Amino acid sequence: MRCGKIVCVGQNYRAHIKELKSEVPQEPVLFLKPSTALIGDGDTIVVPPNLGRVDYEVELAVIIDKKCKQVSAAEALSYVGSVAVFNDVTARDVQSVARKAGLPWSLAKGMDTFAPMSSTLQISQVSDLQDLHLELKLNGEVRQNGNTSMMIFPVEEIISYASRFMTLEPGDIIATGTPEGVGAIKDGDLIEAKIDGVGKMRNPVKVMS
Ligand code: MG
Repeated sequence: MRCGKIVCVGQNYRAHIKELKSEVPQEPVLFLKPSTALIGDGDTIVVPPNLGRVDYEVELAVIIDKKCKQVSAAEALSYVGSVAVFNDVTARDVQSVARKAGLPWSLAKGMDTFAPMSSTLQISQVSDLQDLHLELKLNGEVRQNGNTSMMIFPVEEIISYASRFMTLEPGDIIATGTPEGVGAIKDGDLIEAKIDGVGKMRNPVKVMS
């Protein structure tokens, strides 16, 4: 299936909101990444030169397999075909400048290779989307350790909310936010991200000079 748009949710875990010194949102904070940012397990995250801090963010992704518009939360999961591990790579310094100026985050989030995603697993293989353990290791050391039970807006509410405003189509990816523990990457790093019962992926980092 061709990758469509990548709809991401920002600030969906309280502890992460705290570490970014941000505020708990009243409604899901949505932003998009272009499909050209997508890479797979084993592919290299390539960071353009002179960007300042760039962060990893492990997230649960769900992939839409039926067109949906204005669906209720109760029916939302019937439009999901599969799930995957996702890394919402973020040029944090670029994002911070944009946030302070009230400008969009598109560039900070949308660069080529800034959307690593694992191979997918049929959603029927997952018993509870809201009880999945997420982990991210940087060079073998655990940096993020969370659970999807800690989401502010659960997956079905995110899909329902997004579908009120934008039609979701087969191949669209919904990235559901990151738990605390985000941090910077540098040239030569190896990122290993996994979600128990869903999948895992490894991505080396290349920072261009
Ligand atoms: Mg994120």
